[in-house]
Amino acid sequence: MRLLSLLALLAFPALALAQKDAAIKSAAAHADVNWPAALKIWNWAEPGYQEKKSAEELAAIAEKAGFKVTKGVAKIPTAFTAEFGSGKPVIGILGEFDALPELSQEAVPFRSPRKDGNGYGHACGHHLFGTASLAASIAIAEQIKAGKLKGTIRFYMCPAEEGGAAKVFMTRAGLFDDCDTVLHWHPGARNSAGDASCLARIAVKFRFHGTPAHAAGSPEKGRSALDALVLTMHGVELLREHTPDGTRLHHTVTSGGGAANVVPEFAEGFFYVRHPKADVVQKLYPRVLKCAQAGALATETKLEVAYLGGTMEILPNDTLAQVAKKNLTALNDLKYDDTETKFALRLRETFPDKAPPLEEIERVFDVSGKSSGGSTDVGDVSWVVPVVGFGTACWVPGTPGHSWQAVACGGTTIAKKGMNLAARTLAATAYDLFTDADLRAAAKAELTKRLDGRKYAAMLEKDQPPPLDYRDSKRKSGE
Ligand SMILES: [Zn+2]
Repeated sequence: MRLLSLLALLAFPALALAQKDAAIKSAAAHADVNWPAALKIWNWAEPGYQEKKSAEELAAIAEKAGFKVTKGVAKIPTAFTAEFGSGKPVIGILGEFDALPELSQEAVPFRSPRKDGNGYGHACGHHLFGTASLAASIAIAEQIKAGKLKGTIRFYMCPAEEGGAAKVFMTRAGLFDDCDTVLHWHPGARNSAGDASCLARIAVKFRFHGTPAHAAGSPEKGRSALDALVLTMHGVELLREHTPDGTRLHHTVTSGGGAANVVPEFAEGFFYVRHPKADVVQKLYPRVLKCAQAGALATETKLEVAYLGGTMEILPNDTLAQVAKKNLTALNDLKYDDTETKFALRLRETFPDKAPPLEEIERVFDVSGKSSGGSTDVGDVSWVVPVVGFGTACWVPGTPGHSWQAVACGGTTIAKKGMNLAARTLAATAYDLFTDADLRAAAKAELTKRLDGRKYAAMLEKDQPPPLDYRDSKRKSGE
């Protein structure tokens, strides 16, 4: 008896290692199976909250793998959860799949917008995000099915990360409340891990309604909506000087009239307010709003405010980040073949700055204590449950995010390799979380410490619905 239990004890770590290895291998296989789906999503390049085909594609894969799929969660038609197993622990893995406007591009190393596209492109690699995360989820589900892991794996398909912030609405709806931990990753130009954060952000559209008139024949009868928007933008530029360090204010004109000889009746601007801390963003927003009110006042036009809501900064979790970093470092086997090297060298010629060496993909960068510079609605999730993320090199080193170069890489095997590494790292980290209750408890304790008594409150208006039409610039009725 004693000998048997001793043998079992000795064999257990080896057995656990073999099981973890099986999960990793399976994640790699499913990532390759999902690559055609990633390419389809890359081709469709659907805007935020309009990811209909992409959602159907991924939900079908999850259903085929035996997951219980719940569509239309948090009153968002393209959001869904896919769950396998039962009971605790509940480990969540996030996925995204929306594309960006103005960035249509073929998978070639020079600027070439697609002729058949809708103008959008996957410049943030979200076509890889959902597909890799689902591959890892399926690998874990297989272990649960085989009785080797106990608990629930839940895949979250999260729409409109780029500005529509579905995860804020999904968090508010309580979809993450029973999770022990949540994993995510992001495509990038290098492999990275660490307890990094991001900027909190509020997004708003200011719409101005004026009076049209012949711009030469009767300009005195017109009140220009575009003038109001120009004044708003100027006000925001002046405001910039008087904001706390680390503030980012940026905007774009989404509608500004159509003819030079007509006083524009309608104009719309899309504004972002960002800072490393959500409470600062909340104080800045009313000041930006005043710029828009001033624009309307001075031009005798009417202001309509479409508040899209805010996203929190990520509360990083060092306990979990160390585990993800260890797995990513152990699993990283990225290397370019000749075709990929040729593509990469040609693409580098188009970068504004000197590009880092291609061998960079063989490293994992520690981004502990850093901010990504961007914002993500993953931030909101991280205020209610311990969250861990990492990045893998799906783009040529030095590729800027949200660029046509990122779209180009996303359609090549460079992205396929990065996606595969992400799926393996997710599966390995999820495996560790399923099998180590102490790790889960330590991660939770760290979150409690970082919250320091603060309670999560979504930066949304009361009962605010998800802005499902935020990618449309349109006049509102009732004027
Ligand atoms: Zn992104």
